[in-house]
Amino acid sequence: MDFKVPFGRQNETNALVASALADKEQQYFCPLCNETLTLKDGKIKAKHFAHKRGECTYDLIIHALAEQVIIENSNIIVEDSVINYVNPLKEAMINNRRADAVVDSVEYGNLIIEITVTNPLTDQKLKDYDNLNVLEIDLRSLEKNLSIETLTDQVLSNPNNRTFYPKEQFVSKSKPDNIAYALIAGVVAIAMLLIKNILFPSKSKKRY
Ligand SMILES: [Zn+2]
Repeated sequence: MDFKVPFGRQNETNALVASALADKEQQYFCPLCNETLTLKDGKIKAKHFAHKRGECTYDLIIHALAEQVIIENSNIIVEDSVINYVNPLKEAMINNRRADAVVDSVEYGNLIIEITVTNPLTDQKLKDYDNLNVLEIDLRSLEKNLSIETLTDQVLSNPNNRTFYPKEQFVSKSKPDNIAYALIAGVVAIAMLLIKNILFPSKSKKRY
């Protein structure tokens, strides 16, 4: 089994570094179990981190890092809106189910965040959460050799990989405003044309 660790935690800076950008002179650790990683720089295979034990999987590491991204930030995109949050907690028990993260959002109060890397959120889990607001972020289609910046972006800012439950609870913020602005702008433009025509009637007709 050839398991590739997507990121290594650099010894000195603690920064997560993608294997492609890793430096042979540095020491790296598994971001999940902290085991020392070996950087393989093969001629045939792409540069990658090797993990001696088989307990951490690529998916588990991506899942754990995605949770960490939620914990270390304070806002997330849903459809056309930004949800701002405080007090993020990971691996929190809600109604006897383990939620990947729970945040206190300004707009929705408690918001459960579920990160899907392998198994999608089940109807049963949603039912167990009762009527709480849940945001599922689906990372199943992520490319394998991604950077930490891409992962962060996919977790926080891709409006196309997430679903808000219950759907009817989500309030689309900017769309109604945009429509309202467009209507107001249209009305103002027509009114200005009318006023202009009243104040400065076109003289061209009088020529004939
Ligand atoms: Zn590990």
